[in-house]
Amino acid sequence: MIPIVQADELDTRRRQDTGTSEEEQMVAGILRRVQDEGDAALREYTRRFDRVDIAQPLVSDAEVEEAYTRVDPAFVEALRKAAEQIDAYHQRQKRQSWIDTGEDGTVLGQLVRPLERVGVYVPGGRAAYPSTVLMTVIPARVAGVEEIVITTPPQADGRVYAPTLVAAREAGVTRICKAGGAQAIAALASGTETIPRVDKICGPGNRYVALAKRLVYGRVDIDMIAGPSEIVVVADDSAKPAWVAADLLSQAEHDPLASAVLLTPSRALADAVANELSQQCSRLERSEIAAQSLRDHGAIAVTADLEEALNTANRLAPEHLELMVEDPWAWVGKVKHAGALFLGPWSPEALGDYVAGPSHVLPTNGTARFSSPLGVDDFIKKTSLIAASRQALLRDGPAVEILAEAEGLTAHAASIRVRMDKEDPHV
Ligand code: NAD
Repeated sequence: MIPIVQADELDTRRRQDTGTSEEEQMVAGILRRVQDEGDAALREYTRRFDRVDIAQPLVSDAEVEEAYTRVDPAFVEALRKAAEQIDAYHQRQKRQSWIDTGEDGTVLGQLVRPLERVGVYVPGGRAAYPSTVLMTVIPARVAGVEEIVITTPPQADGRVYAPTLVAAREAGVTRICKAGGAQAIAALASGTETIPRVDKICGPGNRYVALAKRLVYGRVDIDMIAGPSEIVVVADDSAKPAWVAADLLSQAEHDPLASAVLLTPSRALADAVANELSQQCSRLERSEIAAQSLRDHGAIAVTADLEEALNTANRLAPEHLELMVEDPWAWVGKVKHAGALFLGPWSPEALGDYVAGPSHVLPTNGTARFSSPLGVDDFIKKTSLIAASRQALLRDGPAVEILAEAEGLTAHAASIRVRMDKEDPHV
């Protein structure tokens, strides 16, 4: 079911479905109309695409309270445990503002400030993951973001998926809106009568959501364009084939486009994992999705040694990388590109998906070469601080004048020169 290939056959650039130009035009049209007509356009698109009439896009407190009665208390307890650990992990990422005083009395520094308002898109229906609400909202809250708005498509009965509402309340969301697709992104980017304009939009979604995020970028910030899930497992003979197979399947079940790859120098392990995959996959609820993913985007590659396995993993720059080898710490130094790294047999990727602490919103599609997991840094920005003393300006001013004149910016030079008069009683 899963192809066994050479390491160099693994393609490094997977196709990303970014939509056609007609779809892009359609999405651009939605963005324009929501910007011009606000809630009325939002309501019309919700009627057209979600087939439900929403009089009031904002979810009321009563609806959130009611959602708690529709979920299992054990689910709420597990959410709270996850939330606590995600919060603790992100507390360690917080940055402090700093100032530094020079000998001449000049003060330089950097002010760290949270974004004021953030929007999180939560996909609807079966793709709705309450865990993604925690993994996105908690880092923002820890960063100090005051207002966090969630938008998610309404279900056919006009309500929002109850676990999403509960996760939103537990994570500290301030406003929840019933809107999906490109129109929801448009509302967050330009604001409507009921949905405030935000500074940054985060969260996964289908192609219309991804296209809309691309188009509004620049007017607002976005987190990333998330692609299908990926896992690479590097394993040797010390790994249990059943565990390796279970971890590969935990990603393959996400999406037919998800990719699960095993890299191992052991032919015996490769064969045993292939066998386990066939057996375990057929028992899964989402066996069809997982089987398609393994067939089309999965692979087992037998490498010359662990060194080659690690080099290949770096070339793939996967979202998730598991090292199931005898001495995983000995190989950490070789890992250059991965969204999240899981060491040893007791760290299955699913632990990171839910409760370990780091956000599960990670770079996909090889973008771990240049980008990082979602975290507190995504929700702060910095302001440079300069408070020069007279002594410093008299010392550095001439250099500014020369550089400004060289660039033809004589007003810049003049703003220095007016302050250079040592006889001026004001200085
Ligand atoms: P979605 O919420 O992303 O999109 C639903 C919305 O799309 C609808 O509300 C509707 O307004 C709009 N829409 C539907 N058909 C349309 C059309 N023909 N024209 C214009 N707009 C239209 O939910 P979904 O479609 O179920 O997709 C969820 C996506 O999110 C999947 O691609 C899934 O892989 C992804 N996802 C990713 C992660 C992750 O962490 N990477 C997590 C969850 C989901």
